[in-house]
Amino acid sequence: MSDAVREFMDRIKAKNAGETEFHQAVFEVATSLMPFIEKNPKYRKAKILERIAEPERVIMFRVPWLDDKGDVQVNRGFRIEMNSAIGPYKGGLRLHPSVNLGILKFLAFEQVFKNSLTTLPMGGGKGGSDFDPKGKSDNEVMKFCQSFMTELCRHIGADTDVPAGDIGVGGREIGFMFGQYKRIRNEFVGVLTGKGLNWGGSLIRPEATGYGATYFAQEMLATRGESLKGKTCLVSGSGNVTQYTIEKVNQLGGKCITCSDSNGYILDEAGIDAEKLAFIMDLKNVKRGRIKEYADKYKSAVYTAVDPKLDYNPLWAHKADCAFPSATQNEINGKDAANLIKGGVYVVSEGANMPSNIDAINTYLEHKILYGPGKAANAGGVATSGLEMSQNSLRLSWTREEVDQRLQGIMKAIHSTCVKYGQDGKWVNYVNGANIGGFVKVADAMLDHGIV
Ligand code: NDP
Repeated sequence: MSDAVREFMDRIKAKNAGETEFHQAVFEVATSLMPFIEKNPKYRKAKILERIAEPERVIMFRVPWLDDKGDVQVNRGFRIEMNSAIGPYKGGLRLHPSVNLGILKFLAFEQVFKNSLTTLPMGGGKGGSDFDPKGKSDNEVMKFCQSFMTELCRHIGADTDVPAGDIGVGGREIGFMFGQYKRIRNEFVGVLTGKGLNWGGSLIRPEATGYGATYFAQEMLATRGESLKGKTCLVSGSGNVTQYTIEKVNQLGGKCITCSDSNGYILDEAGIDAEKLAFIMDLKNVKRGRIKEYADKYKSAVYTAVDPKLDYNPLWAHKADCAFPSATQNEINGKDAANLIKGGVYVVSEGANMPSNIDAINTYLEHKILYGPGKAANAGGVATSGLEMSQNSLRLSWTREEVDQRLQGIMKAIHSTCVKYGQDGKWVNYVNGANIGGFVKVADAMLDHGIV
């Protein structure tokens, strides 16, 4: 670690005590950016890095609601408005019991760079609550979403801040929140993305993050004259990103053999084909069941429960070519990364945000594998949210083919930006590429806007 990074991180840690995920995300970016900033003193003089790491605004609020028994429940709501230099704040809402200020600040910080990479005019934000949707009735989820939006609605707007889904927030939750926004503000506008098709949503938005992460892997493989055809893939999670990653990998001729939830994972060496994927979608999106039930249904699959005593995740130790971590942050540590490489994996395309910890990233970089960090590889989701915003402004709906083509074009453009800023001899360091490529546009806009 250079002295400049160490001094910068000391200040970040002192100012944001206890926010370990935020420290981790800033450290990764600062490590890439410091040498670039040294060569471009205009950014240092204007303290761009210091300003980018300081949210423009943090909103924290009480979310009270009544459960089905008539008991009062109290959650905490957040919205981090991180950076609006290149467009309205944009980023998802996460509903998960682990949500806290540090996790949302890390996600908002990552989002600034990711949104810049998409080529679209979107600033960075993130929000959510420690509400746990698991085991709650539809009525309870609605009550929570309505209370959450009752406060949030005064801070967001189609030209101000446009939230979307993330962990625990899919079509159902976006619907309840949109309904409440419309009721209170009496306006039908594109204030949320991930909307239903009948009320302003975009085709391909549900598919976009998983499809995008797969297109990004395909782009990385193309630099070696290869494709996903015939490749065996390890995938984690079983939610939105995982489901559409599996769908696209299948369409491109690859085979996915794992997926998971927070209780355990399944290994299906025969491959998760279209019929099995339909089972997962019904299990997770309709029945809201557990992934263990997959192994009850398909005899080709083996279920392994999470063992808290292990210091690694056995999902990442199976033989494969590619990995698509698509569950949550820090799901791959140094040991997992070593196992991936031992098992033959040479492509990692991150559907989740920051799923690899710093040791894991260093392991990928040492071995010079094709590693697409989340802020580049999973940017297809927010990019398609940007396309949903464009359609809302135009009051038009594009066809499936049109949106998919734009998504593919954007993933190609993100890949080219990573290559431009990350080329290192014959190899591409996509971490540097994504961090520097995402930084330049935001930093130059901040220089133009003066000290604000
Ligand atoms: P979903 O809520 O649809 O699915 C999340 C999946 O990850 C579930 O299978 C969940 O299992 C698992 N999971 C969540 N938290 C944990 C945990 N602490 N430990 C183990 N497993 C966990 O979310 P998404 O698919 O939308 O999001 C997945 C990842 O992708 C997140 O990192 C998100 O930030 C990122 N992402 C999502 C985008 C989107 O468009 N949706 C865009 C860009 C990034 P369980 O049901 O047991 O909790």
